[in-house]
Amino acid sequence: MKVIEKIQAAAAADPDRVVFSFEFFPPKTEDGVDNLFERMDRMVAHNPSFCDITWGAGGSTADLTLEIANKMQNVICVETMMHLTCTNMPVEKIDHALQTIKANGLQNVLALRGDPPHGQDRFVQVEGGFACARDLVKHIRAKYGDYFGITVAGYPEAHPDMIGNDGVATPESYQNDLAYLKSKVDAGADLIITQLFYDTDIFLKFVNDCRQIGITCPIVPGIMPINNYRGFLRMTGFCKTKIPAEITAALEPIKDNEEAVKSYGIHLGTEMCKKILAHGIKTLHLYTLNMEKSALGILMNLGLVEESRISRSLPWRRPTNVLRVKEDVRPIFWANRPKSYISRTIGWDQYPHGRWGDSCNPSYGALTDYQFMRPRSRDRKLIEEWAVPLRTVEDVHERFKLFCLGRLRTSPWTELDGLQPETRIINDQLERLNIKGFLTINSQPAVNGERSDSPSVEGDSCGHNSLS
Ligand code: FAD
Repeated sequence: MKVIEKIQAAAAADPDRVVFSFEFFPPKTEDGVDNLFERMDRMVAHNPSFCDITWGAGGSTADLTLEIANKMQNVICVETMMHLTCTNMPVEKIDHALQTIKANGLQNVLALRGDPPHGQDRFVQVEGGFACARDLVKHIRAKYGDYFGITVAGYPEAHPDMIGNDGVATPESYQNDLAYLKSKVDAGADLIITQLFYDTDIFLKFVNDCRQIGITCPIVPGIMPINNYRGFLRMTGFCKTKIPAEITAALEPIKDNEEAVKSYGIHLGTEMCKKILAHGIKTLHLYTLNMEKSALGILMNLGLVEESRISRSLPWRRPTNVLRVKEDVRPIFWANRPKSYISRTIGWDQYPHGRWGDSCNPSYGALTDYQFMRPRSRDRKLIEEWAVPLRTVEDVHERFKLFCLGRLRTSPWTELDGLQPETRIINDQLERLNIKGFLTINSQPAVNGERSDSPSVEGDSCGHNSLS
């Protein structure tokens, strides 16, 4: 379904209903891509009206973007909008991309000119390609008719090329930029998503200015939560975004404290969105930068994300920590002890080898570190003691009995050489159990907290230490 139709349908059903969307970019590594899908899956559970995936600068991620877009639409099952730029893209490549997504059932494109290729400072039209986003929009409409919903980029402060050294566009450049935006819409775009901004008044004025010149389609504010100070400076520098003085003042004292910056970013994003919503604009677009905490934090503050939407009822209070909200299994004996449960498990993904943790974690160890690395001499002994003809079930009972009596040194289910000394205390009982067919693979005699090498355990306390 086209995104514009989803937005219109939501507004028709309830004019106060707020819809939101998430933007992602193609990660650099294969693991990163896998992790992104997991993250998307979690975020899509919060019911965004659509998600979009960017087109790498200069077409650098073309194949990956196409693949991710396909999986988003068909596996994650979220309405997906793929970005497409003209940089380094002759029309055949543009059509290949459009036909691919059409064949995969996508109906939404964000049509962009793109930035100049790496190393050049001016956009150059590739031979057989397009000069600007408006030409791309025209091409899509001419060749694909009404099939695609087409979104274009809008710039509340004018496109950076129009912004001078003083940090602002001249009124004339600003008006030219607006007129050009209108021509993109007139060419067939049905939605505008804006560049990031941090001065909400500038965005609201931009919307008003667009309406004045006859742009009637929805204008969706692009909200980029501040995740870290340096990234914020880099991004705003690149886009020539105005930073209001109060934001600089708030960030300056906390700039080296990443957690504090993130919290402030969530607070600021929340306040910006509240003001935008109060002006009757009911669509929000979040630049997630492939992270979930800040985007979801803002939506939770706005009351747009309800835990209950993704929750099944649980016998414990669902965590609010976004890193754990998806958790729906706990060991039963910890379930009702939230404090000890949280403190015991908070660092689980940081085990040095991570053998039993999350395999996506960088610390997850290779399988070679455990059962496949047994000393070879031990393997030989195992085969000698256990790979023997077993003709009846009693033969199996007999093997287990011999092991419990200490007459076999190895067992397939333990790494230890023979039994722990204290097991001698109960090996008569173990013998009787195993002969009866209750095969024991683990046991612990009561030794009143003594160590295995304590004389009271190793000694002949029960007269059963005569193993050879
Ligand atoms: P256009 O709309 O073609 O033009 C940009 C500006 O150039 C106009 O605003 C106008 O000032 C001027 N201009 C161009 N043609 C004319 C004309 N005929 N007459 C008058 N003025 C003209 N980049 C990526 O590489 N990949 C992405 O996935 C991506 N996603 C983006 C998503 C959003 C929401 C936004 C806002 C930007 C995104 N960008 C992306 C960045 C974008 O490619 C750059 O900002 C690029 O410099 C301009 O692209 P555009 O589509 O806005 O260009």
